[in-house]
Amino acid sequence: MDRRDFFHGTALLSSGALLGCATPGVAQQQARTPFTVPATYIPIIGSDEVFPVRRIYCIGRNYAAHSREMGSDPTREPPFFFQKPTDAIQYVAAGTVADHPYPSLTKNYHYEAELVAALGKGGRNVPVEKALELVFGYTLGLDMTRRDLQRFMGDQKKPWEIGKSFDKSAPIGAIHKVAQTGHFTKGAIWLKVNGQTKQSADLNMMMWSVAEQIANLSQAFELFPGDIIYSGTPENVGPVMVGDVIEMHIDGLPGLSVRIV
Ligand code: MN
Repeated sequence: MDRRDFFHGTALLSSGALLGCATPGVAQQQARTPFTVPATYIPIIGSDEVFPVRRIYCIGRNYAAHSREMGSDPTREPPFFFQKPTDAIQYVAAGTVADHPYPSLTKNYHYEAELVAALGKGGRNVPVEKALELVFGYTLGLDMTRRDLQRFMGDQKKPWEIGKSFDKSAPIGAIHKVAQTGHFTKGAIWLKVNGQTKQSADLNMMMWSVAEQIANLSQAFELFPGDIIYSGTPENVGPVMVGDVIEMHIDGLPGLSVRIV
């Protein structure tokens, strides 16, 4: 079993973490199944436990300059969210350069560097002042996007899914517990391609803070432990080609790097 299989694997079945999920509608006891469906885990720094991913939420157009480059008026737009499937996660260990496959169907494959909040508690209608109490930790990730297909579907008023929610579209680093990092309300966020700076901004330029995102999301969905939230990307998104190396950084976290193959 290679490393990727482990993080999308059944290696932890015996831990009891997989079954007995508290989500309504999910079987509460162990059942015999004709095959196994992988679950997704992300390593937790400084712990022998791993973080089980329940859902991946992503906010759209959360930095004004990026909103403008996507053709929106940021002053009039409430936050909106989409989801990626849990198994879109591609875990990337710090200090490594993971191979990231150029996906099918696109000719305009874009990076988006983002802070990611990982929830250890759930709730609905969570007030902004209490929202950060739900956060277990933070990491950084790439919201990889088939931009041509996202635009094509948007222009036709059809769902974005094919542009955003495809296999391996969510490269992500290990989770850092909030006790070790504090909350991320400011600090540099940047992304380089082949050593050249493409995105460079500050987390304090988010239009909706992580706390506001949690509060807003919790009005639409009941949040649960294991939910993670990609908190949006700054301006200057752009394309990559096979052979390019993406390096991203957020102050206070180790970097994340992938090579497009
Ligand atoms: Mn994004």
